[in-house]
Amino acid sequence: MRLLVIEDDQALVETLKADLSKAGFAVDIANNGLDGEYLGDNEPYDIVILDLGLPHKPGMEILQSWRSRGNAVPVIVLTSRDQWYERVDGFKAGADDYLGKPFHIEELIARIRALVARKHGTIANFIRSASLTLNEDEQRVTLDLGGSRRDHALTGTEFRLLRYMMLNRGKVLSKTNLSEHVYDHASDRDSNLIEVYIRRLREKIGNKLILTKRGQGYVFNDPAS
Ligand code: CA
Repeated sequence: MRLLVIEDDQALVETLKADLSKAGFAVDIANNGLDGEYLGDNEPYDIVILDLGLPHKPGMEILQSWRSRGNAVPVIVLTSRDQWYERVDGFKAGADDYLGKPFHIEELIARIRALVARKHGTIANFIRSASLTLNEDEQRVTLDLGGSRRDHALTGTEFRLLRYMMLNRGKVLSKTNLSEHVYDHASDRDSNLIEVYIRRLREKIGNKLILTKRGQGYVFNDPAS
């Protein structure tokens, strides 16, 4: 999952970037409204965390402008002015969720996971297919082969890649698409590296769940699910 945080409070931005990265998200930052709106229109984010009080363009105008142009990226609005009528305005403008400052990072992470799960029709914290369970808190995967269970720790990239594939099961995902959702903007996004990580994932979960579609990409498919 790749997130965009649009927030001008530099201290908050730094802790958010560190904590969200640790929780297994690729994170891009915009510290003013114009850059944020532009990035949200041009990069395929899975979620945007949007502050309301921003230099150059207020968060509410960004949200209205995206929605009026059909940009449906899921948005969690952050604000210190946590008044009920502002929450109503935010939802009317097309926000998916709302969090008042100050907040605990655990609550933001829980809301991000819940929103991702809602959009994909799954349950947060444990993403399951017939033979795999991905534990988001521990970044581990359990493989259940009817009787024998095997548990593997995943590296950060392996975890981000497998989560994205499991949430988009059955869809053919190109290497470019995968790298856009697994790495942040600043990373050296060599889509050939995806092959390396797919191979490492297959060493842990076997060859049958991630199929190669020649010339197109990969598809996660758990036949029993
Ligand atoms: Ca602000």
